[in-house]
Amino acid sequence: MRKIGLLAFAVLLAACGATKTVLTADKAPVLAKLDLKNVVDDKVAVTVDAGAFTTDEVLFYIPKTVPGTYSTDNYGRYIEGFKALDYEGKELTFSKLDDNTWKVSNGKNLDKVTYWVNDTYDTEGEVKDKVFSPSGTNINAGKTFMLNLHGFVGYFGGLKEVPYELSIVRPEALKPTTSLTPKVLEAPVANVDVFSASRYFDVIDNPILYAKPNTETFEINGITVTLSVYSPSGIYSALSLKDRMEKMMGAQKTFLGDVDGTKIYNILLYLSTMEADDASGFGALEHHTSTVVVLPEAMPKERLEQAMVDVVSHEFFHIVTPLNVHSEEVQYFDFNDPKMSQHLWMYEGTTEYFANLFQIQQGLIDEGEFYQRMMDKINNAKSYDDAMSFTEMSKNILVDPYKKNYANVYEKGALINMVLDIQLRQLSNGEKGVLWLMKELSKKYGNDTPFEDDKLIDEIVAMTYPEIRTFFDTYVIGDTPIDYSSYLGMVGLSTDLIEQETGYFLDGDNPFIDVEQGNENVVFIRKGIQLNSFFKGLGAEGGDIIKEINGTAVTLESIRPIIGKSFGWSPDTEISMVVDRDGKEVLLEGKVGAPTVNVETIVPVENVSDEVLELRQAWLKG
Ligand SMILES: [Zn+2]
Repeated sequence: MRKIGLLAFAVLLAACGATKTVLTADKAPVLAKLDLKNVVDDKVAVTVDAGAFTTDEVLFYIPKTVPGTYSTDNYGRYIEGFKALDYEGKELTFSKLDDNTWKVSNGKNLDKVTYWVNDTYDTEGEVKDKVFSPSGTNINAGKTFMLNLHGFVGYFGGLKEVPYELSIVRPEALKPTTSLTPKVLEAPVANVDVFSASRYFDVIDNPILYAKPNTETFEINGITVTLSVYSPSGIYSALSLKDRMEKMMGAQKTFLGDVDGTKIYNILLYLSTMEADDASGFGALEHHTSTVVVLPEAMPKERLEQAMVDVVSHEFFHIVTPLNVHSEEVQYFDFNDPKMSQHLWMYEGTTEYFANLFQIQQGLIDEGEFYQRMMDKINNAKSYDDAMSFTEMSKNILVDPYKKNYANVYEKGALINMVLDIQLRQLSNGEKGVLWLMKELSKKYGNDTPFEDDKLIDEIVAMTYPEIRTFFDTYVIGDTPIDYSSYLGMVGLSTDLIEQETGYFLDGDNPFIDVEQGNENVVFIRKGIQLNSFFKGLGAEGGDIIKEINGTAVTLESIRPIIGKSFGWSPDTEISMVVDRDGKEVLLEGKVGAPTVNVETIVPVENVSDEVLELRQAWLKG
């Protein structure tokens, strides 16, 4: 309706000789309509309606990729029943150029496009290259909708920069949580939410969670934070998770100081049933003023809260980078032909490092826990290519072999920042570190001013010390693995093997035993892992198939109660175990003992100078 009005007005203006003013597609807002009330076959109807087109050919895109995911996801795969309509509602012919692009040849007659959207959560188990749930979409009629809007709303070629207006028809019981600005309407319509966005980027930067209200809002030094929770069985409420989030984000704000000016922040937490038709990619995706977090609902409260602390703090720190410090590649992000920046060591690495560092600086974890986390990263980084240039990997992250090393941005990426932090502290007598560097960079750049991708490292060197040039050339641009112990030595730390308590069958979540694929009657001791003192003491070896324990034949079913009982064993408890080793039965007997494993850990070196101790304090306590 509105379009017709616009067109009549356009004709009128044209008659006065004032063509191409506010009315053509490049000036009129794009109107996108989503109908969440009348879901058909688990699909949502969408209409995208721009102003009058002035070109013969019009392209319509659904993003191939979005910022922060560093993967090619082809959201167009989830679009069905695409139609291009003229002003009389007649279908125009179009062609589909690829998964994400539609071409309408008779563009001047094009009024709008309509299509159906399928969600990604339903099919995560089936499709190849599945979308990571925090950037995916969910349609669960009458219950919840996860609107990562890049999966629902597309853009017309050349019209990414015009304002958008979103009109969403919803079931009465479901309410939105989003950082999008609600439009003030003269005549609001019941159960229709209308939001404005200044450009297409803002549409996709502001996901919306629709759910039955389960939200809490709190203030942290000038930021209004809203936590909205979808918990399918209702066991988790926003209220039950609020305290820990409030404490954690308060600590983050103190750590950051005045580095950012964000006024609102929304945490959209989606808890998955983990059934075949629900989300299976856990974690979160950052946006300027919100984050989507997906975790399993089955997590016990303490673990869910810890996961929220680790994940949400990471996402919130993205406010610094890439959101406030980023290159042109990020600023002018091309959703359908993305160019990647070289600086994942910073976008993800610095962010992940800060998400750990702030916890020690603000007293949420102790030194031992911080060292263990860094040690875990050193160990986890070993499963990736340690001799791959980080800048080269970043630039080419969408393709192999770089793509399969992506997750190393959270391991080695964080460690690059740890050693850079130590070196900066050392060169500046403890005064300057990576946080200082990021504050300086965010003062210089910020939300709307990108840096040139090739110039960033030169600039960091100019702001700091000549030694930092060598550091980047060797470890970030270059492919030399980092000798962590030499950096840890600067702050009086070294690595050492220490004996740590563990379980008889499980080391935390990590079992010493496994079940043969497709045959739950074969339980074996895992190969290639460090066994605990219990298995070693009995003379067990990796690969042994456990046939019997204390006379009970062992299967997956029968070993569960044995594992349960083992929590009550004392070191003097006697055990007899029959294993099959290369086809021969071997009887293993003895006392179970107190199970331990040797873990490599970071430990303080004794008798170091005061200078070194002060440097360590400056690094850990800021
Ligand atoms: Zn991240």
